[in-house]
Amino acid sequence: MSLIVQKYGGSSVADAESIKRVAKRIVEARRAGNDVVVAVSAMGDTTDELMDLANEVTPIQAPRELDMLLSSGERISMALLAMAIKSLGHDARSFTGSQAGMITDSVHGAARIVDVTPVRLREALDEGAVVIVAGFQGFSRESRDITTLGRGGSDTTAVALAAALDADVCEIYTDVDGVFTSDPRIVTKAHKLDRITSEEMLELAGSGAKVLHIRAVEYARRHGVTLHVRSSFNNSEGTIVYDPERLPEGGAVEESVIAGVAVDLGQVKITVVGVPDVPGAAAKIFKIVARTNANVDMIVQNVSAAATGRTDISFTVPKSDGEKALTALSDAQESLGFESLQYDDQIGKLSLVGAAMRSAAGISARLFEALYEAGINIEMISTSEIRISVVTRADSVNAAARAVHTAFDLDGDDDAVVYAGTGR
Ligand code: ADP
Ligand code: ASP
Ligand code: MG
Repeated sequence: MSLIVQKYGGSSVADAESIKRVAKRIVEARRAGNDVVVAVSAMGDTTDELMDLANEVTPIQAPRELDMLLSSGERISMALLAMAIKSLGHDARSFTGSQAGMITDSVHGAARIVDVTPVRLREALDEGAVVIVAGFQGFSRESRDITTLGRGGSDTTAVALAAALDADVCEIYTDVDGVFTSDPRIVTKAHKLDRITSEEMLELAGSGAKVLHIRAVEYARRHGVTLHVRSSFNNSEGTIVYDPERLPEGGAVEESVIAGVAVDLGQVKITVVGVPDVPGAAAKIFKIVARTNANVDMIVQNVSAAATGRTDISFTVPKSDGEKALTALSDAQESLGFESLQYDDQIGKLSLVGAAMRSAAGISARLFEALYEAGINIEMISTSEIRISVVTRADSVNAAARAVHTAFDLDGDDDAVVYAGTGR
C-alpha cells in the first residue's frame, strides 16, 4: 500500500461544488488502494478577505491574533472536505495543524517547522480514514500559541507531512497544469515543463513564481521529497520537481538553458541620497535596515560625484518591510549623514532562471537586448549563478516578461490555460 500526500490550493476548493469535486478525487485515490493524507488551503481568497477584515478593524494587528484569525480559514475548508468525503461513503477525519503535530518556532506570520509528530494522523490512517490536515498553520511549544507559516504555506505543510510520514508521493494540486516557463496569467504563451530541477524551482519561487511556496521547495530538497505539481481540474501529467542527484524515473535529461521567467510586483525600492562616500557608510545603513528584520534583495551603489564626495545607495525590500526600513533610516539620518530618502513602490522585478546559465555565454546580452527592443528601461540588475534579475517600472514588467519569454524561444504553440482562481 502506498501513502500519498495531496495538497489542494484555495482555488481548487473555492466553493461547495469544488469541495465535492476534490472529495471525489481523494476518494478515487483511496479506492485505488492508497493511504491518503491531504493538506488543504483556505477556500478561494478567504485568507486575503480575512486580512482585509483585520485591516478594517485596525491597521496594526497583534501578530498572535492575526495568526488566530488567518488559521481559521483552513479550519473551514478541512471540515467541509472531510464532510464531503464522508458523504461519499469513506471515513475521513480533519485535524488542525496543532492536532496534526505540526510544531513550529514562535515567529507569527512566518513560523518555521521544527518538528512533525503525526501520531494522531497515523492512528486515523490505521483505522482506514482519509486524513485531512489544515495547511499553513502550526503550534509553537515555546509560546503555546497557534502560528502560520507565511502566505502560500500550505505547500510547506504538505511537504512536511510527506517527509514525516515517509510518503511515496507528494502531489500539489492547483489551478494550472503544472510549473510553466512563466506565470500563465501574464505570459499566455508560457508552456508547461514536464520536469524542473529543485534548484531552478527554488530560484523561480524566490523570484515571485507563487505556484510553489519557496520554503516547500527548500524543505523538499532537504528531505528528499519529490514534488509533483498538477491540476486539480483534469488528469494531465503535471510537473515533477526533482533533485538531479536523485534522478527520477526516466534518468538524466538534457536541461534547457532557461527554465523560466518570473515576475515579482511585491517589492519597493528605497534610495538613500547623498551618503558620504567613506568606508563604513554601507555597513551602517544596512545594519540599521537589518535591525528591522527587513529582507534586503537587490542593492545598487552609484559612483560618487567627485565634487561632493557623496553617493546614492538604492536597495529593494518586500513591500511589507518597506515602511519599517524607511522609518528606521529616517530616524538615523543625523548619524548616517545622508541628504534625503526616496521611496518607490512602483517597481517590478523580472528574473530569468536556468541551471545551464552557469556554462552558457551571452545570456545577459540577450536579455538586455530583448528589453531594449521592447523599449523597457532597466533600473537595477543583480545575478546569481543561475539567475539574472532586473528591476523595471511596475507597469512595464509584464510586457518585459513577454518580450524576454519570446526572445529566449520559450513560447509554446498554444495558449496556457488557467482553470480557476483570481490570481490575487
Ligand atoms: P493555489 O491556490 O493552488 O496554492 P496559487 O495561486 O498559490 O495556487 O499558485 C498557482 C498560480 O501560480 C497560478 O494560477 C499562476 O497564476 C501562478 N504562477 C506564477 N508563476 C507560475 C509558473 N511559473 N508556473 C505556473 N504557475 C505560475
Ligand atoms: N491560505 C494561505 C494563503 O492564502 C495558505 C495557502 O493557501 O497556501 O496564503
Ligand atoms: Mg499557493
